[in-house]
Amino acid sequence: MDTILVAGGAGFIGSHLCRALSDAGHRVICLDNLQTARPSNLKLLEDLPNFTFVEADIVNALPASVTDAPNLTRIYNCACAASPPQYQADPEHTMLTNVVGTNHLLRLAEKTGARFLLTSTSEVYGDPEVHPQVEGYRGWVSCTGPRACYDEGKRAAEAMTFDFARMSRAEVRVARIFNTYGPHMHPDDGRVVSNLICQALTGRDITVHGDGTQTRSFCYVSDMVRGLMALMESDIDGTEPVNIGNPDEFTINELLDMVLELVPNAGKVVNTPLPQDDPRRRRPDISRARDVLDWSPRVPLSEGLPMTAEWFAEEVGAEMSVREA
Ligand code: UDP
Repeated sequence: MDTILVAGGAGFIGSHLCRALSDAGHRVICLDNLQTARPSNLKLLEDLPNFTFVEADIVNALPASVTDAPNLTRIYNCACAASPPQYQADPEHTMLTNVVGTNHLLRLAEKTGARFLLTSTSEVYGDPEVHPQVEGYRGWVSCTGPRACYDEGKRAAEAMTFDFARMSRAEVRVARIFNTYGPHMHPDDGRVVSNLICQALTGRDITVHGDGTQTRSFCYVSDMVRGLMALMESDIDGTEPVNIGNPDEFTINELLDMVLELVPNAGKVVNTPLPQDDPRRRRPDISRARDVLDWSPRVPLSEGLPMTAEWFAEEVGAEMSVREA
């Protein structure tokens, strides 16, 4: 049996990925510092067969339980706080996670021959002037703003990953993940889908940043995990990043309307200031993923949002129910 390492495996996407890899018959090591992970996500994973949890931070030297794992064939790097309020809370650590942490995992890939996949981000495109975003677009990113610790960190992580590939030090894949949502997000994650649903369920003010005309394209988590696994197993040239996301684009106001349809008796909507450097619009061009991975998303927002709202309704113990979809 081969072993797959998932750094950040107790996080939102990482925990779904651990489960899918275990279901596919692999031994899974989940490495996580539990900074933004949900303990309940981890509890659900601990019953999986051939599953091991290692608490450690990839910023530090990796523990022997990871470096000496038998038959390590794949390394997924999903380790980094990804929500703006969370990655900005300790920006130095965010940058180190992406640069030093990725280096530790790449060196492990070099030593073991395991294939390495970096989960990069649509944030490498910054506040994009090209729409939708194709992988060849180099982005419009501020290296001085509050998002830089994350987006410049991910850009540096990509650069290092591609250098390892160019120098034949490791076999690599790079996914650029666009906004992803679904069950097992942290209710306090701070991102728009979890915020709007949880605020509506608990009757708190619903915070729309700016006038709500900015756009995002939301990918359901099962589609994301399927895309990441397809990319890892593909024989794509490792020096090409691949956008993984759902190209259906919505304004935040449209998302809000869908949430209000689902959750009766929600509180009032308040417009709060638009955060600095908040991208005006974002939508992936997924031609490459379609062509090379034969992958495209299957779950539209109209299906994924009710499933997510139902899960949150149970999770936050709201007395208010979710309206039948
Ligand atoms: N946003 C919002 N209300 C919230 C949280 C976020 O209107 O409570 C906005 C945010 O300013 C951005 C969009 O929703 O324009 C998506 O934000 P999110 O933090 O989910 O992810 P981002 O794509 O910005 O990393």
